[in-house]
This record gives sequence, structure tokens and C-alpha cells, in this order.
Amino acid sequence: MDDFTAEQRARKFVQSVAPASVPVLLEPYLAQIGAKVTVDDDLAEGEAGYTMTVKGRHSIVVNGKDSERRQRFTICHEIGHVVLELESEHEDPSWSYERRPPNEVCCDIFAAELLLPVSLFKPALLKREIDARCMADLAEKFNASLFATGSRMVTFSSEPCAFVVSQGGKIKYAFRSSSLRDAKLWVPSGIMLPDRSLSAALRKEATGAGPIELDADEWFDDVEGGVVLEDAIYDAFRDQTLTLLSLDIEDMPEKAESTTYARQEDDEGQKELDGNLPWPKR
Ligand SMILES: [Zn+2]
Repeated sequence: MDDFTAEQRARKFVQSVAPASVPVLLEPYLAQIGAKVTVDDDLAEGEAGYTMTVKGRHSIVVNGKDSERRQRFTICHEIGHVVLELESEHEDPSWSYERRPPNEVCCDIFAAELLLPVSLFKPALLKREIDARCMADLAEKFNASLFATGSRMVTFSSEPCAFVVSQGGKIKYAFRSSSLRDAKLWVPSGIMLPDRSLSAALRKEATGAGPIELDADEWFDDVEGGVVLEDAIYDAFRDQTLTLLSLDIEDMPEKAESTTYARQEDDEGQKELDGNLPWPKR
């Protein structure tokens, strides 16, 4: 199953329940598939949950040690396994987003759609800045994780912006808005956070609040000119940094000529986990 199909089926499922207020209640979703939830306080740390199906009845087990938001995500992820009829591939509980098995990615997309339904999330995002405050506000409002909220923000933003996830100071993944992708602007992954970034500073000490302005080439590969607005939230416990980058449409950086061609292939090869339409497979 591809990401697009998972997203479409999630939207259909959400429409069949038609949540009207936030935070979205999970009971109607569970009722739709005839599932019940059990909280298990003895699950190992890092094991989010699983589903047992006996004679067609689904029992979703979640980890009692996880936060309420995490449990909500897990429940919706497990509903994804049931609705999409995808086997779980939970062997590796370590946080390695870029290596998540395809079934798990599909269920994550499904879960994000249930918790942050497009019909409710898009209006909530209107006229908001793409910054950390907005991400924290919306996460609170929808009782969803910062991670899911940040990735949905750039998915539905009409602005050129990106949501960057870093672990241990190293950039793991960048979600880009469609206008940023159209501009072929690229945040490299697998490298350390830019020295002069707010994200790098937050790891060293609790510094002043963002957003801050930086030359676009601090964050974007092979560009000239332009300014990027950066804001970030640092989770010291997980050593994880969530960064929001937005560009001024009036002052966009230019692609440096010599490297445009070489980067195009990478650009298309990047796997998006944000529920955006994937590039057509060749
Ligand atoms: Zn799963």
C-alpha cells in the first residue's frame, strides 16, 4: 500500500464518523470497528501497543507508561492496522523514522488523519504563523503530538515551509510544504544542525525564544540569497529537536546554478511521510 492510498482511506474512515469538534473523540472511531482499548502498565518502555483480534473482535492494548497524547496516537495507529488490513511490523521499537517499515508508515499517516482531520485542521491553521507557538497551540487543541502536528502544518500550509526532525543534533528528516517542493528547495538530512541555527543553540542551553532570522543557505542546500525564519522546540529527554522553517515568498532564495541538476534526483527520491501525494512511480 502506498502513502496516498493510506491517506485516502483514512479520510474516508474519518468522513464515516464525521468528528465535529476538537480534540477529536476516539470512542466513535473505536465503535466504528468494534474495538475496545486496554491500558497495560507492564508493557516495556518504547513498546507503544498492539492489537489482538479474537473471533473478529479487536482489542487494542496501549502502554500505560506513555503520555495521553502518545496513547491517542497509538490507538489511531492500531485502528489503521485494522482498517487498512496491514500486518504490524513492530519488531524494531527504536526511534528510527527514516527506516520505518512501509506498513507502519501507512498506519502513522492513517493515525495523523484521524487525530488531525483535514476538515478541522485546515481551518485551525488558517492565518497562523508557521512557528513553534502555533505548533504547541494546535497540538494542545487537538491533543496530538508535536510531531504529528508539525508535519500536518507544513502539509496544509500554502507557504514555502518545512518541518525538520533532528535526533541527537543530527537532521533526520525534513517534511516540506508543496510550494517548497515546487521551488525545489532542499533541507539536507544526515548532517548536524547548522551551527548558527536556533535549533543548535537550544540543544546547548535554554536560549531566548524564536523565531529567528537566518540567511537561507544556513538551512537550505545550494541556494543563494533569501532569508529563512526559524523556530524550534527542543525535547531534552529524547534529545529531539523539532524545527519549523518558513521562507518569505517575496524574498525567496535562488537555486545555485551548478547544482540544480544533481539535486533533482534526490528531490524526487525523498520519501514523504506527511500524507502528501507521492511522486508518481516510474
Ligand atoms: Zn504498527
